[in-house]
Amino acid sequence: MSQNILTVCYLIGSITFILGLKMLSNPASARKGNLLAGAGMAIAILGTIFLYKDVETGEYLHNYEWIFGALLIGGIVGTLAAKKVKMTAMPEMVSLFNGMGGACAALISIEEFNHLSKEIQTNPNPDYIHFIQPTVLIIVVGLIIGSVSFAGSMIAWGKLNGKVKDLSFTGQNILNLLVLASAMGLAGYLVMHPAHSMMLYIILGLSLIYGIFFVMPIGGADMPVVISLLNSFTGVAAACGGFLYNNEVMLTGGILVGAAGTLLTILMCKAMNRSLKNVLIGSFGGNSAKSGGGSSDFGHYKEISLSDTAMIMSYANKVMIVPGYGLAVAQAQHICHELEKILAEKGVDVKYAIHPVAGRMPGHMNVLLAEADVSYDHLLEMEDANEEFSTTDVVLVLGANDVVNPAAKTDPASPIYGMPILDVELAKNIVVNKRSMKPGYAGIENELFFKPKTSMLFGDAKKVLQDLCAEIKNS
Ligand code: NDP
Repeated sequence: MSQNILTVCYLIGSITFILGLKMLSNPASARKGNLLAGAGMAIAILGTIFLYKDVETGEYLHNYEWIFGALLIGGIVGTLAAKKVKMTAMPEMVSLFNGMGGACAALISIEEFNHLSKEIQTNPNPDYIHFIQPTVLIIVVGLIIGSVSFAGSMIAWGKLNGKVKDLSFTGQNILNLLVLASAMGLAGYLVMHPAHSMMLYIILGLSLIYGIFFVMPIGGADMPVVISLLNSFTGVAAACGGFLYNNEVMLTGGILVGAAGTLLTILMCKAMNRSLKNVLIGSFGGNSAKSGGGSSDFGHYKEISLSDTAMIMSYANKVMIVPGYGLAVAQAQHICHELEKILAEKGVDVKYAIHPVAGRMPGHMNVLLAEADVSYDHLLEMEDANEEFSTTDVVLVLGANDVVNPAAKTDPASPIYGMPILDVELAKNIVVNKRSMKPGYAGIENELFFKPKTSMLFGDAKKVLQDLCAEIKNS
């Protein structure tokens, strides 16, 4: 009876994962989707703790102090970390959590292999070894993928918070391939000869080294693609755990994460117009601090005053706001929505042009603006926004830089060449708000700021928007 209820728990867990994932694809339902999948996970975990029976001994789980102790510690750390994290540090957090998932999968493999090793010692006959070989195969696959994901995610975490610097050297890709090939070769050997248990730890070491080397040279705008790829690795590693334990919900969850991570990786590569191979061996970030294409002198830029900006926006028919990373840094989303409402009251048509990689994580701008209750109907995806710029009177670029950099179209030497951008230049007036002339994430200058139609409005986005709202209200 209890096993039937447990199966139902797993079914509920699997269904809620699928529904939750579907709901995550729309900003309006994403929050509920997250809660739904979380509730499903809770049911699956509680079901396992209280209803799971060992097939051989027929016993229920009993070491509750360990289980609930770990749940409590993990729950408290996770809740505090999630509550404290700033929106701008979210990719770091995702990377860290993802690394923990990879580590769990690797630990499961080590633990299960140790069980098998003991069995082999008591029962070393060839038939038994032949019988357990498929299990050993799943164990080593989970170990390699989980360890690569763990080590890679930790390096990605360090890079995103600025503690780890990009590192690349000649022959790095060949060395990486050699390390990976050695890990895989030894894994094959271990499957054939599972009694050689020390091999498992050599495979673990090589996989960790590969994870570090694999992420070390990647940087700049390619980091989110790598994080998404590592995310899919963790999913596959967790699915291996599902195979090992014959656990449906772990298998479904792992496969969903693996598939979703792979799709997201492909979509992000498309959004940046880069092939995955290019991301993995192209070392985007290696040169990102330098100026792109050698053209550093674009002439002079002009500034615009707050009152002039207020005037051209108040008299515009159509205004397009282009949010970027700086808006998130300034936490200016609420005052930005306020500006939208004030302009709308004056009869101005206000929309937001959202670039897929604006900010520091996929969907960053959508999440940021949703937090300020900006209506989803006002958010335009890049392709739609690009069609509307030619009929736009004023584009207000708020803390965005790379995503409006024309070098992506015009300068083959630029590291962002080929990345689709928002064609803000097509509008009648472009006002760019940022604090200085410093470059954005890719570390390259932006010719847009020097164009005749562009005016710079310097200052912190929040302060500038507060003053702009006051100015428009009083005008
Ligand atoms: P950028 O990083 O290109 O530019 C942000 C700009 O904001 C900077 O030039 C900075 O200029 C300005 N800024 C910073 N703080 C403030 C502030 N308080 N007030 C006003 N302005 C401010 O951002 P974009 O969003 O245009 O582009 C995103 C970049 O990040 C792309 O290169 C993308 O590929 C990359 N990336 C994207 C990820 C994603 O998944 N979305 C993840 C990781 C990277 P100043 O210092 O002069 O104020």
